Amino acid sequence: MVDTLVYRELQKLVSGRVRIGEPMNKHTSWRIGGPADYFIEPQGRKELQSVVSFANRRKVPLTVIGNGSNLLVSEKGIRGIVLKIGSGLARVSIIEKDVVAEAGAKLSALAAAARDSGLGGLEFSAGIPGTVGGAVVMNAGANGSSVGALVREVLLLNLEGRLFHRTGEALNFRYRSCDLQQEPAIVVEVRFACYPREKQLIQEEMERFVARRLSTQPLRLPNAGSVFKNPPGDSAGRLIEAAGLKGLRVGDAQISSLHANFIVNLGKATASDVLALIDKTRETVLARKGVELLLEVQIIGDV
Ligand SMILES: Cc1cc2nc3c(=O)[nH]c(=O)nc-3n(C[C@H](O)[C@H](O)[C@H](O)COP(=O)(O)OP(=O)(O)OC[C@H]3O[C@@H](n4cnc5c(N)ncnc54)[C@H](O)[C@@H]3O)c2cc1C
Repeated sequence: MVDTLVYRELQKLVSGRVRIGEPMNKHTSWRIGGPADYFIEPQGRKELQSVVSFANRRKVPLTVIGNGSNLLVSEKGIRGIVLKIGSGLARVSIIEKDVVAEAGAKLSALAAAARDSGLGGLEFSAGIPGTVGGAVVMNAGANGSSVGALVREVLLLNLEGRLFHRTGEALNFRYRSCDLQQEPAIVVEVRFACYPREKQLIQEEMERFVARRLSTQPLRLPNAGSVFKNPPGDSAGRLIEAAGLKGLRVGDAQISSLHANFIVNLGKATASDVLALIDKTRETVLARKGVELLLEVQIIGDV
């Protein structure tokens, strides 16, 4: 429910527009998701802090998103405020051998900045379509590396609107997870520990990683990357394919025939289509392969 008073107060706190009933399918890589009551893209830390403090004071629910590349948003959408941390908080700088990035910077911009300064370590992230904040929360990774291994320090904002620091170590990074998935705090800035490396070598490795993605992932259709986590010692894609599920379809949601751990949106897929396909996949893989698949994508919004 949209409250006109809340809307007016919010609009006073930010320089951009507070969007009412913003369709979340415009902000998710799956192109799925119903309306957010209030949608805000903060321009800078001050705005971010004042919206977070307001939400806390007025007890308005708050949801933070980055690039929406790991999210399934329900058709009913999201109640309260959705804060999209994007281009308004996306500065990237180099301090000594570290790359320091605000949470809204794209991983691709981060990897490019590191390369341009002759700093290695972030090559693996080329081609992962998320923001720095989303990548830290998810401990995004590929090609044998993940973001958490490089995080020296994170600047966080708690839900009362207070900034504080945490070391990377204190966040307990693990496979596609870290403690920020349990402790709600907003990533504001991240310092990555890199090392000197020849620019040409960095560039070549990034190109190799991106080329491999282009040939193995169904990137022409909306998707959210890997739907399930890889079980220890195995790959979810291999199991789903071996269970005979490639190409299985519910509505306009389909298990990709190129990569079985991807569900693609053929055009008008709904969150319910994707959820039904997820359920069928989990049941079949459990029955035929004896393995319980766990979700990597996160489901948010009213059901
Ligand atoms: C084609 C494709 C390929 C992909 N390949 C990979 C891959 O190789 N490896 C991999 O790990 N992932 C991959 N992904 C998944 C996705 O890109 C990553 O999980 C990415 O890190 C998510 O970042 P995001 O900004 O899109 O976060 P979102 O999807 O917007 O959010 C993810 C989570 O992070 C939280 N969050 C986002 N920003 C902040 C913030 N500033 N502060 C606090 N919480 C925040 C959200 O609340 C949510 O819980 C892929 C996705 C696609 C579509």
